[in-house]
Amino acid sequence: MDYAGRRSRLRSAIEDADLDSLLVTHLPNIRYLSGFTGSAAAMLVDSRGVVLFTDGRYRTQAKQEVTNARIVIGRKSPLQTAAEWLIARRKSSRPTLADQISIGIEPESITAGMRDRLAALLKGTARLRSAPPLVERARMIKDADEILRIRRAVELGASLFPVACKDIRPGVSEVKVAAAMENAARCGGADGMSFATILASGPRSAIVHGRASRARIPRRGFVVCDFGVILADYCSDRTRTVHVGLPSRQALHLYQAVLEAQLTAIAAVRPGVTAADVDGAARRVLRSRKLARYFTHSTGHGLGLEIHEAPRLAAGQGQKLEPGMVVTIEPGVYVLGKWGVRIEDVVLVTASGCEVLTPTDKELVVI
Ligand code: ZN
Ligand code: ZN
Repeated sequence: MDYAGRRSRLRSAIEDADLDSLLVTHLPNIRYLSGFTGSAAAMLVDSRGVVLFTDGRYRTQAKQEVTNARIVIGRKSPLQTAAEWLIARRKSSRPTLADQISIGIEPESITAGMRDRLAALLKGTARLRSAPPLVERARMIKDADEILRIRRAVELGASLFPVACKDIRPGVSEVKVAAAMENAARCGGADGMSFATILASGPRSAIVHGRASRARIPRRGFVVCDFGVILADYCSDRTRTVHVGLPSRQALHLYQAVLEAQLTAIAAVRPGVTAADVDGAARRVLRSRKLARYFTHSTGHGLGLEIHEAPRLAAGQGQKLEPGMVVTIEPGVYVLGKWGVRIEDVVLVTASGCEVLTPTDKELVVI
C-alpha cells in the first residue's frame, strides 16, 4: 500500500485547511495511513513527520505493521500520550517553534469529553479545531491495490450466496443459514464478516436490517440475504432476495420493479454525475410503479476499509462520482408485516461508466 503517497497528499490537504497538524483518531483512517490494525491509537501528521501513539499491548504489532513513522508507546490513553508528547516537543523546540500550534481533530471520532480533556491538557501548547474530513475524502478514491483487495473480498462474498441457497428451506432457522455462510467465509480466508449477516424471511423481510434470528423460514415468501466479508482489511457487501415456494404474480411484480430500479441506477453510474442523480434514477423507477414510498433508505454507499464510507448515494448529496470510487447500488421495497425485496451489488466507477464487480444473474431464485 502506498502509505508514503497518502501521507504526502494528506500533508498538502492539512496545509490547505490552514492547520499545522492533524490528530487522526478514527482507527480506519490510521489504518489507511499506516497499516496499523490495533484497536487503540492516535496519529499525528504534520510537516515534521508522522507519529503513532498507542499502548503497550501493541508494542510488537506497531513495529511490525508501521514503517516510516515514529512510534510512541504510552501507559495512558493514546490521546493523553499524544498530548504529553506534544507538550514535551514544544518545551524542547526552539523559541521560534514555541508558538501555539493549531491542531485539527476529527470531530466524528472524538467524544465531547475527550475533546475537553485534550483541550485542557494542551492549553498554551495548541489550539484544537474541528478539521474537515480530510482522510475520508482521500479514501473515497481507491487506488489499484485497494481495488484489487475489494475485488477479492467481493468475490469471496459472492461465493456465500450459493451456500445460503443450499440451506434455505422451510423450517430451517435463519441463524442456521447465516452460520453456514459465516463458516464458509472464515474457511475461505475472511477476517470476519463486514456486518452481522442479514437473513430476513417471510414478513421479517420487510425489516430493512433484519439480522438473522431464531425465526424459521416459512413455507412461502421472500428471504432477504444481505452479507459481506472482510478480506485483507477490505469489505464486501451484497444482497440477494430469494423466494421460497411459488411466488405470486404480485411478488414477481415487486421483484421485477426492484431489479429494474437497481439496473437503472447502475446504468446511471459514471464520472461527473452526482450521488443524488444515481439515487434519483432508482427512485424514479419505483415511483413509476407506485412503490417509491416503500423505498425507505438511500440507494447506496461507498465501501472499502469500512462497510459504510463516503460517498452516500442519497437525495441531496451533491458529491460528484469520480473514477476509482467504489459504491453499492441497493434499492429495496419493504411493505411492513408483509414482505421486502432488496438487490445489492458493488460497482467500481470507471473512466467511462462503471463496472459491476462479480456480475451475476439476478433473476429471482425460487427455492
Ligand atoms: Zn448490504
Ligand atoms: Zn450496503
